[in-house]
Amino acid sequence: FTLWETVTGTLKPLALLSRKKGIELLYEEGVDVPERLRGDPVRLRQALTNLVGNAVKFTESGCVRVSVDVATSDDDGIRLRFAVQDTGIGIREDKLDRIFGAFDQVDGTMSRRFGGTGLGLAITSGIVDLLGGTVEVDSEVGRGSTFSFEADFALPGEHKRPSAPRERDLSGIRVLVVDDYEPNLRIMEDFAECLGMVA
Ligand code: ADP
Repeated sequence: FTLWETVTGTLKPLALLSRKKGIELLYEEGVDVPERLRGDPVRLRQALTNLVGNAVKFTESGCVRVSVDVATSDDDGIRLRFAVQDTGIGIREDKLDRIFGAFDQVDGTMSRRFGGTGLGLAITSGIVDLLGGTVEVDSEVGRGSTFSFEADFALPGEHKRPSAPRERDLSGIRVLVVDDYEPNLRIMEDFAECLGMVA
């Protein structure tokens, strides 16, 4: 499957929700992440839908940033690290290991305010386990949370990421990137630089 299509396809409906709340939803793929992978895109979708859905739900302003990078790779396959970072309400340290249990929510007031069943993270942990990883969380009350996991994939025959269009050498070309949101500018700048352009 094509990673970019799977992830952006998963994020699309969530982007509608985040737009309604006025939150930016960003996706950043490491430049060395292969374009095509062999594995289970359905499970990957489910895990991301749950984590990004929560991130959007528990964030009132700022952004939700989804990223994927290479953790390790060898001849047999590749291990990717996915992270979903939000600037939301955060989770108290003493509640952090409880949230992965079934029907556990940080508190009843919150569940009334935000809805949900308390099952999402329990299910996500099970799915990520099947992908060969573990869900981890790092959070600070009032600043936000990062949920991350690693997952194993095999590489199809041609594992190289298709390189930038070769007909036209873009190196050294100066580009002006315009957006009203700083993290977007940074993503576009990295992307331009990876193609050899100067942003
Ligand atoms: P649900 O979202 O249906 O309540 P989950 O199992 O997905 O259930 O999450 C359990 C609890 O963990 C949530 O109720 C919430 O208190 C907390 N939580 C999960 N994700 C986040 C997040 N991104 N920011 C803040 N709290 C979160």
